[in-house]
Amino acid sequence: MTLPAFTPEPRLLIDGKLVESSDGSTFDNVNPATEEVLGQVANGTKADMQRAIGAARRAFDEGVWATDRAFRRRCLEQLQTALESEREQLRAELVAEAGTPVALTYAAQLDWPLADALTWPAAMIDEFEWERELPDGNLMGRAKRAVRKEPIGAIGAVVPWNFPFEVTVNKLGPILAMGNTVVLKPAPDTPWNATRLGRLIAEHTEIPAGVVNVVASADHLVGEELTLDPRIDLISFTGSTTTGKRIMERGAATLKRVFLELGGKSAMIVCDDADFAAVLPGAGIACMHAGQGCALQTRILLPRSRYAEGVEILTQVVAGIPYGDPTDLGTLSGPQVSALQRDRVQAHIDRAIADGARLVVGGGRPAHLTRGWFIEPTLFVDVDNSSALAQQEVFGPVLAVIPYDDDADAVRIANDSPYGLSGGVYSASTERALRLAGQIRTGSIGVNGGLWYGADAPYGGYRSSGIGRQNGIEGLEMYTETKLLGWPA
Ligand code: NAD
Repeated sequence: MTLPAFTPEPRLLIDGKLVESSDGSTFDNVNPATEEVLGQVANGTKADMQRAIGAARRAFDEGVWATDRAFRRRCLEQLQTALESEREQLRAELVAEAGTPVALTYAAQLDWPLADALTWPAAMIDEFEWERELPDGNLMGRAKRAVRKEPIGAIGAVVPWNFPFEVTVNKLGPILAMGNTVVLKPAPDTPWNATRLGRLIAEHTEIPAGVVNVVASADHLVGEELTLDPRIDLISFTGSTTTGKRIMERGAATLKRVFLELGGKSAMIVCDDADFAAVLPGAGIACMHAGQGCALQTRILLPRSRYAEGVEILTQVVAGIPYGDPTDLGTLSGPQVSALQRDRVQAHIDRAIADGARLVVGGGRPAHLTRGWFIEPTLFVDVDNSSALAQQEVFGPVLAVIPYDDDADAVRIANDSPYGLSGGVYSASTERALRLAGQIRTGSIGVNGGLWYGADAPYGGYRSSGIGRQNGIEGLEMYTETKLLGWPA
């Protein structure tokens, strides 16, 4: 389809002003589907990051943001209106810079989060239980007691490239609604949706200077300043488990609060009573956006009793996945975001072959797509759950089929993973599927295709998939401190 032309914002937002980087340098934003340079964006320096941190700190300590709830709500509503007014430009921009299939922008890449990521937290400003009373205490005389929720302070929000707008607004909504200020650091591969947001904030809202700062940079270590600086109270990070661990380590020196949304290797358990013809086409969803989604179900667990039948259907499904040009409305799987990612995915595929998994579909770069960082939708069967392919996050359009003996074996295999982000269970019996879902150690799980997504739904991971929850009441609480008060009755 033809997407509208869009005007990107190349400047950073620091202390209420749209600015070039302090040394005037820029970096290229590249279209992963065509390898063409789309344009440039300011290349934020450590000095820029320091200024942004100072601005966020000041805005929190000295401004009205932390205390004026009605004002915050109004500002969030203004930002919502501004974003909606540029929805179609944002759509085109996301397809260009992230290489996301345009179809996904009508769902989780854009329209779903645009519907509630800001509006739900904004509404919760009035409904949130900011204070609750405890029963009177009676230890050294009677005392009234209360628990109060307060904003944490200045927050560093670090965002990945795969669902950049979705992650960004699902951080900003709760962070701002709870009264915090923020320095937003987008991934270098997808800076424009964030700088656009910065411009909209500066030009179309009353959000005070310093409350939101946007610092893009080609250098990951500029983002690391957020983890090192004592003026930042909490890091809200979404990205790889490797970087998440580094942020914890670096943040330890200042006892930084960390909220981590990390990787996954989720399992799709297909029970022996499931309707394979109806259920297995859904497995192809794990190849959407070239497999670059944290919660995708990339391990398909099939019962041995119906294994051959399942493999046959899955072979057709994966071979039939429409992939290629992300501007084509029918495309499910576009390019990897960068040549680096493409090479990483290829290395995972090569290792799986060397480890003895049977390659049935795909396995490399498509011959007919000579430009763009594409990998074919790929299916491996007879995968050993202890192999690298089953244990590591590939972040590519690569599915691993693993046979199991019975329900207990399926649960054991699903849980035999360093990750614990998401998953799915499919059975003709909802009761059976719900029972199995209860035994899977992950932060979310879909039963018979049920979708849990939403700004009111606490999302996050067990084990190496993260610490904390995004969204929902639990997500709002991630961005608050708890104060206990006592006074004579
Ligand atoms: P990444 O960890 O390489 O980078 C994420 C962000 O961290 C980028 O903005 C990057 O510039 C920044 N960064 C890198 N090093 C840093 C450092 N030392 N200090 C501070 N910031 C630093 O991840 P990615 O490749 O951009 O994203 C893919 C990963 O994100 C996958 O593992 C995926 O599963 C995960 N992810 C998780 C969720 C979730 O909600 N659990 C959602 C989306 C993506």
